[in-house]
Amino acid sequence: MEHHSVIVAGGGPGGLGVAATLEGWHPRFEGEYEFPSVEVQEIARRYERNPLALDPHELLNNGHRPIEFFRMRHHPIQDALPLDQWTLKFTKRERVDWLLLTTDGPGGIWNSVPREQLTLGPAHWMELAHYPISRFYEQTGRKRDLDALVHRDDLVPYYQACASELGLSEHIRPGIRVTGIYPAEPEVDGSGPRFIVDTKDQQDGTTRTYSCDYLVFGVGPRSSLRKLDAQRTDQGYVSTSYTHPDDYPGERILVVGGGRSADWAAQELHDAGRTVVYVMRQQPDSHLKLINESQYLPYYRRWAEILSGEQQRMGLLYGSKVRAFKPGGMVSIETPEGVVQVHVDHVVIEIGGDPDYDLLRQFGDLTFHDKRDNFRFQLKQMVVDQATFESVDIPGLYPAGYTAAGTGLSVIGFHAGCFLVAGDILRRLGAV
Ligand SMILES: Cc1cc2nc3c(=O)[nH]c(=O)nc-3n(C[C@H](O)[C@H](O)[C@H](O)COP(=O)(O)OP(=O)(O)OC[C@H]3O[C@@H](n4cnc5c(N)ncnc54)[C@H](O)[C@@H]3O)c2cc1C
Repeated sequence: MEHHSVIVAGGGPGGLGVAATLEGWHPRFEGEYEFPSVEVQEIARRYERNPLALDPHELLNNGHRPIEFFRMRHHPIQDALPLDQWTLKFTKRERVDWLLLTTDGPGGIWNSVPREQLTLGPAHWMELAHYPISRFYEQTGRKRDLDALVHRDDLVPYYQACASELGLSEHIRPGIRVTGIYPAEPEVDGSGPRFIVDTKDQQDGTTRTYSCDYLVFGVGPRSSLRKLDAQRTDQGYVSTSYTHPDDYPGERILVVGGGRSADWAAQELHDAGRTVVYVMRQQPDSHLKLINESQYLPYYRRWAEILSGEQQRMGLLYGSKVRAFKPGGMVSIETPEGVVQVHVDHVVIEIGGDPDYDLLRQFGDLTFHDKRDNFRFQLKQMVVDQATFESVDIPGLYPAGYTAAGTGLSVIGFHAGCFLVAGDILRRLGAV
């Protein structure tokens, strides 16, 4: 059985940030920086050459949020900070033994979003502090505004560049699905690895078992896709994810969803000249609220335009549920006015997913926090020690990225958690 000190499951921004820190890219604070609290400022100065050596319980016990300690240095102001003004720097130290197993390549979910997908926030909110996105833009000759939204065709290469520039690539195994995580049987003297990790190669189906002492759980918000509760979703005209208008034949497209991925699909199909029937379970007021509150985003401004226009090619069915897909494109939909039959050429289902906590079922009941954001993202996050991000239920297991409670549902919200996770592991390994 192949053993590693740390196994990271998931190669999204969550897992990659921890991997980069374990690779030896340790933060330090430099220059003229100021924390709002005198007490935190004093702690920061004391540990500025090696903040990972600080046990963040010292912050927590004095009423300060440890994740903010790092986030504040990475993003001290709203706008992107020019590189020469960064007070968060990195020192390259010895790596510890880590391995990252992931189904997609670096960048996680961004590998499988729609082909023209933009972020909801500015470029610098998406970056790993270890490799600023401004440096990537410069090195690859991209002339981009750091405060503008990013296209996935820039973001995926950015995360790939993080892996190569930071020397992570040779320790990342893409195309590998973790199929189960189990507690390992300790030796008689209590020693031995803590976790057993079963995997399957997605290409050739080979299975392999690993063991490790620490596990970083970064499988992201969509590792278990939701299934639509309707009859005959296996009809040939039904697609279970959205990519690009060119990928769907015909004129009339039914979109099932209601989250922002479905909003994106419905709008893009509409603007590509299709007639769209958009079915969602939620009521109009909550959709309209989201649109109104998101007017700073170009694609929600476009939604407002579509809704205030004549809507000849956008039919919205609120408070409705698809019941059955029938042969020849007939779809049966339950609406507040009763059941209607709609005839379409193609159907796109975009109903999102959940983190695959079933991978951890061997550990018994877990403690979750129900997290929602203003953009209708909602998911269960694992409750963690806010100083280290170690699970309160599974010692040695650290949720990273979306799966950890106490972060926002965005990269800017969770990225700094990588220093808490890696810092705790490094201190336990005696490596800081
Ligand atoms: C359409 C869309 C737009 C978004 N826009 C923004 C935005 O503007 N700003 C923002 O901050 N966030 C945005 N998000 C949220 C997005 O989830 C985060 O940007 C980020 O990718 C989450 O990082 P993560 O590492 O937690 O998970 P992910 O990026 O989901 O990465 C986890 C990865 O783990 C791997 N994996 C899953 N299951 C397994 C398994 N069993 N075994 C091995 N590997 C596995 C997969 O490769 C998966 O992609 C958006 C999401 C979507 C879908």
